[in-house]
Amino acid sequence: VKEVAVSRTKVLFLALDAIEKDLVRAWTDDGSLPTLKMLLGRGLRGSTFVPQGLSVAVWHTLFTGCTPGEHGRYYYDQLVPGTYKTRIMRPGEVAREPFWFDFSRAGVRLAVIDIPKTDVTGAVNGLHLVDWASHDPDFRERPRSWPQGAADEATLRFGGDPVAANDFGGRGPSDATSFRDGLLRNIERRTRFYEALLTEQDWDLVFGSFDDGHQVGHLCWSIHDPNHARHDPALAAAIGDPIKDVYIALDRAVGRVLAAVGPEALVFAYSSTGMGTSNTGYGLLDPILCRLQGVSERRGRLHAAVKARWDKLPRTIQERFNRLKSTSREAILASGRATRDCFAIPMNDDGGAIRINLIGREPLGRVRPEDYDRFCDDLANDLMSVVNAETGAPILRGVIKSRDVHAGARVDDLPDLLMDWNAEAPIRAATSPKVGVVHQTLSPSRTGRHLPEGWLAVIGPGVPTGTLNRVVPITDFVPTLARALGVPGTTGGSFMRELFGH
Ligand SMILES: [Zn+2]
Repeated sequence: VKEVAVSRTKVLFLALDAIEKDLVRAWTDDGSLPTLKMLLGRGLRGSTFVPQGLSVAVWHTLFTGCTPGEHGRYYYDQLVPGTYKTRIMRPGEVAREPFWFDFSRAGVRLAVIDIPKTDVTGAVNGLHLVDWASHDPDFRERPRSWPQGAADEATLRFGGDPVAANDFGGRGPSDATSFRDGLLRNIERRTRFYEALLTEQDWDLVFGSFDDGHQVGHLCWSIHDPNHARHDPALAAAIGDPIKDVYIALDRAVGRVLAAVGPEALVFAYSSTGMGTSNTGYGLLDPILCRLQGVSERRGRLHAAVKARWDKLPRTIQERFNRLKSTSREAILASGRATRDCFAIPMNDDGGAIRINLIGREPLGRVRPEDYDRFCDDLANDLMSVVNAETGAPILRGVIKSRDVHAGARVDDLPDLLMDWNAEAPIRAATSPKVGVVHQTLSPSRTGRHLPEGWLAVIGPGVPTGTLNRVVPITDFVPTLARALGVPGTTGGSFMRELFGH
C-alpha cells in the first residue's frame, strides 16, 4: 500500500503580502484566481486596516499584537528620542516581543517563514526563516534562520533566490520581463518549500508569507494600470500584465499549499495592505514646512540633490552604503531641525511624517506643551490648504495626529503628524498662498504604493461561510491564534467568536 503523506498541521497562517483586494475581486470574477475564489466564497471573509498613516508598521503590529503606540516601530530609519538625529533600526528591534517566543514557551511547535520586518533574535520551538525568499528586507544580508543552518539547507534543496539583484529601487520596471519571470520562479521555489514543510513534519502553527505580489505591485503598477502617468502602452503590449501573472501564480501556489495542509487545518489567508497608483508629495513635505516657518530650504535642497543621485544607484550598492547615507543625511539635516518648530523625518514614500520640536521632549524644544494641540491643528490646516499646482486639488486627504489614534506608552516615539496624500494625480508641484510654489522630482522606481485596506479569509472545520461584520484590527490576529492553539495569558481582542461562536 502506497503511503500518502497527511499533514497534521493545526493552523496555517498564510500572508499574501499587499495583494490588492480590488484586483482579487476582478480576477476572481473573471475566473483567473480559482483558489482565492474558493477561499473567499467558502470561508469567513473580512477586511483589515493598517495602523492609520503607518502602513510600514503593519508587520510589527501584527507579530507583536500591539499597536504602534505600544511597540514604537514605524520605519526602518527612526528619530532617536531626545535627539534630532535618526538612526537605522535593526529589523528585529522592537519594544514588544514577537508572538513566536511566547507561543514557543507555551510548547507550540511552529514554523515562522519569511515574515517581513523581523529578524532571528532567539530560539523558537521549531523553525524560523528570515528573508529566505522575500524581497523587502531592511538590509539584504544572507537569509537568517533558527536553527542556524536551516536557511542554507533550504537553499541547497530548493535553490537560491532568483530575484536577488533586480529589486526595489533605481532600475525601475524597464526590465520587467526578467523581474516578473524571476518572481514566478521564486513562487515555485517557495511553494515546493511549503509543500515539503507541511507534508514532512507536524506543526501546530505554520506562519508564513508570499511577498511576490508586494514586489510586483510596487514596481509594475504603471504597466498594469493604463491610467498611470507613466504607463507605456508598447511595454504593456509586449509583456502583458506582470501583476496578473504573479497573482495567478500565487493563486496556484496557495492551491498547492492548501492541498498539502489538508482539510483538517484551520487556514488563514491574509493580505496586509492593498496596492494602488503611487502619487506622493513626500519630497515636498519638508520644503513646505520650511516655507511655512520662514526658514531656509538650503539643507533640504542639498539633501534632495544627494537623494536624487542616491535613488539612481543599484540596490546592491545602496545596501552596502545605507548606514553611510543615513549618517551623511543626518549631518546635513539634524542641526537645522533644532532651530525649527517642526520638521519632516524619514518615512516611506507612501506616507510622510512630521516631528514637533516640543519643549520638555526635544533637547532644544520650541513649542510649549500647552500649545501642542493648537500648533498641530494650525499646521494641519496650513498643509490641507496646499494644492497640486497642476490640478488645483488638495495634495493631502488628511493629516493624522498620532496622539489621537495611536495610544500607548511609546506614542512619543512616533512622528507627531502623519500625511495621507491625495494620490489621484502626480504631485510635481504644490502651492498655497502661504507656501508659494514648491517642486519635487518624482522618484523613478516605485509606481505602486500601499493602500491601507487589507483582507482576510478563514476556512477550516466548523468555520462558517460569511462576512465578518467589522473591520478586523491587525492586533487581533495574535490573540486569535493564541486562542486557537490554547496559548494561555494572551490578552486582547480576537475573532474566535465569529469563527466558532465561542
Ligand atoms: Zn511595500
